[in-house]
Amino acid sequence: MKPIFIIGNWKSNKETSEANAWLAEAKQLLSQTPIEKQKEVVVCAPFTLLSLVCSFVSEHTLSLHVGAQDISPFTNGAYTGEICAKQVKEFATHVIIGHSERRRFFGETDTMLAEKVKQALAQGIAPIYLVQSENDPIPQGVTMVGYEPVGAIGTGHPDSPKNAEEIAIKIKEKNPYVDYVLYGGSVTAENVASFTGLAHINGVIPGGASLTPDSFFALVHNA
Ligand code: PEP
Repeated sequence: MKPIFIIGNWKSNKETSEANAWLAEAKQLLSQTPIEKQKEVVVCAPFTLLSLVCSFVSEHTLSLHVGAQDISPFTNGAYTGEICAKQVKEFATHVIIGHSERRRFFGETDTMLAEKVKQALAQGIAPIYLVQSENDPIPQGVTMVGYEPVGAIGTGHPDSPKNAEEIAIKIKEKNPYVDYVLYGGSVTAENVASFTGLAHINGVIPGGASLTPDSFFALVHNA
């Protein structure tokens, strides 16, 4: 059976008490309905919550992986405010790189993103590299890509599964080292199967739907 990846992205949301409540409810839901074997679920939390989420997941042996939402393009050192790969690695196995919000609001360029990928790979962190179309360059070494058309993010208007599938095929053709293409943009428990049922879509990246355990795990189970 092909693996299905579900990458929840909390973005810049949640304080400690809210993260604790999410985790407690997740534990309860997962004890009732465990995640199916072929699914790999990653929760990408803000830096401030990575330690908390990582400790809870390991203490309660939840079948979740922990991801970061960004990483420094530099190693450790005199880069005030940055969180480098060695620091991320303490808590996270995955990292989102190249989200359209980071490209748009923080001026992240393809060159900078390629440096971030290098840093993540050097520390054994799996990059989830986000692109907006099949034309965005994808750095060598990236095996998991997320196709996220900007107009579909947070709008309630997902791309059509047919178009997402066509883009996934093109991405894999142009970048033979890419094993998995995920789709992101207004994915919900209701529409997730229309994407994960496709031959070339290997998972999804929900933002809004990852914020409550109810909506997130309904989506995970329907994927
Ligand atoms: C995202 O966070 O990348 C995203 C796709 O958000 P949403 O699911 O809310 O559209």
